[in-house]
Amino acid sequence: MTTRRRGQQADMSPGRGGRHSRRKSHKGQWLVVTALAVVATVVVANPEVAHRNSLAAQAVAGVNEVAEEAPAVSVTPEPVPTPTQKFTTPSRPAPTLTRKPKSSKPNVSVSSGKLAVVPGISKANGVRDKLTYRVEIEQGVTVNGAAVATAIHQTLTDPRGWQALHPVSFERTDKPDADLRIILATPSLTDKLCLPLDTGGEVSCRVEDRVVLNAKRWIYAIPAYDGNVEVYRSYLVNHEVGHALGHGHSTCTTPKTPAPVMMQQTKGLAGCLPNAWPTVKAT
Ligand SMILES: [Zn+2]
Repeated sequence: MTTRRRGQQADMSPGRGGRHSRRKSHKGQWLVVTALAVVATVVVANPEVAHRNSLAAQAVAGVNEVAEEAPAVSVTPEPVPTPTQKFTTPSRPAPTLTRKPKSSKPNVSVSSGKLAVVPGISKANGVRDKLTYRVEIEQGVTVNGAAVATAIHQTLTDPRGWQALHPVSFERTDKPDADLRIILATPSLTDKLCLPLDTGGEVSCRVEDRVVLNAKRWIYAIPAYDGNVEVYRSYLVNHEVGHALGHGHSTCTTPKTPAPVMMQQTKGLAGCLPNAWPTVKAT
């Protein structure tokens, strides 16, 4: 086998060399012709180089490899627009953005101090004592009000929520006589609305008829929830509304089990697991 392969290789080499030589020879002739044509073009286009004609012809004829690149000297290059021209004269106007780029950060900290009621209602899904609430959002906070209201209502009427433990049915209204105000506000307004409690710009609260959700927590949650922002939001709503229903704080008594919803989970889980639902673990 080895011998045969060597033989094949030996047979092929000269043959390839021969073909290559012939091809190169034809190519060389063509290049010389091309080069001469190029030189002639240069002479016609620029009489000043006429006296170099014979010298150039000799050089081109003698070095075929260079002739391959020679046409470049006879062609006047198209003017290439500089980058400055490209950027200062756009061919079309920039497209209008219909929504903010994903990279832009939502506003949770610049406070307008003004609250706006989210319009609309969400009917109670139970027949027991109706408890009405109204959703208010500080103007300027980057959230979709309708989506916030929907998330709150879903949490409050979830089978794992307070309705399973209390004879209560939550109904959203936009009227001033709501039993409860659920407010989403910047940290600074949260601090004001939570007085005399100290929310320190970080946490949320319930004071009187106000459930105040800190927008910073609503948007970013806490690391322990590992990116499950929706679950954390449910915790936030259930915890603060739990206060409104009369519940105080709980602690983590058994590590590696779900934390009570009335535990101050935003301040740390103490070894317990994130949990948003009052029915998952006794509060
Ligand atoms: Zn609390």
